[in-house]
Amino acid sequence: MIVGVDIGGTYTDVVAYDGSEFKHVSTIESKKITKEFIEEVTRKADAVGIGIAAWIKGNKIVKAPNLKIVPELDFEKYFIENDANCFAFYSSKILNAKNLLAITVGTGIGTGIVIDGKIYRGSGLAGEIGHTFAFHRRVCSCGKVGHLEAIFGGKYIDTRFLLKSGKIYKTLGFKYFCKAIAFSVMLLDPEFVVIGGRVGGRLNEKLIEEEVKKFTAEEFEFKVVCIQDDLAVAKGAALLATSKTHRRG
Ligand SMILES: [Zn+2]
Repeated sequence: MIVGVDIGGTYTDVVAYDGSEFKHVSTIESKKITKEFIEEVTRKADAVGIGIAAWIKGNKIVKAPNLKIVPELDFEKYFIENDANCFAFYSSKILNAKNLLAITVGTGIGTGIVIDGKIYRGSGLAGEIGHTFAFHRRVCSCGKVGHLEAIFGGKYIDTRFLLKSGKIYKTLGFKYFCKAIAFSVMLLDPEFVVIGGRVGGRLNEKLIEEEVKKFTAEEFEFKVVCIQDDLAVAKGAALLATSKTHRRG
């Protein structure tokens, strides 16, 4: 049995995978996560994958802008990966896509890139469009000024209300979100742009595609897909834990 854990900005989800099906084990608030909790839920597992809202370089967490507490994690014992990378990997499996750009929108904004079926990490941190400039002066959780996350992340705006009322599509944050996707599409030419996370997965894929396509050349034939599955990161982490070709380091 493989266990997948997703330590997000607000919630932590745990799934179990038997090789064919995923089972939801638990969901708790991330501020309550301890080393002991991780040990308890993974006690009977043959392998463990952990997706975490953190920037990882080599085998070290170098930054976690949206986590109040970063639990002590053993990189030798567990397969540990950036949460958006786990989401990207899971998306590439279910969509059977070799090249895609995946973005999670929840507390913060994460990005994962899959090229030729593999996660692209650059020097470790590749894919952080949430931390690119979006033409405002608000300070971002990473410490810099004017980033997309600081006008479209759930930590800064009431995404729950905006989603419910449909007003989210009228916000400046949404416009810059789509522009950031357009820049990335022109850079990567992906088959899919997959959007997930507790907010992102509930966005309207048609409206995003329409807005993004205002800025991309017509020859770029990508499709926007929103995946409403709050367990997608945990599932991706579990799949990665079994994959030998995706080791870090
Ligand atoms: Zn930032």
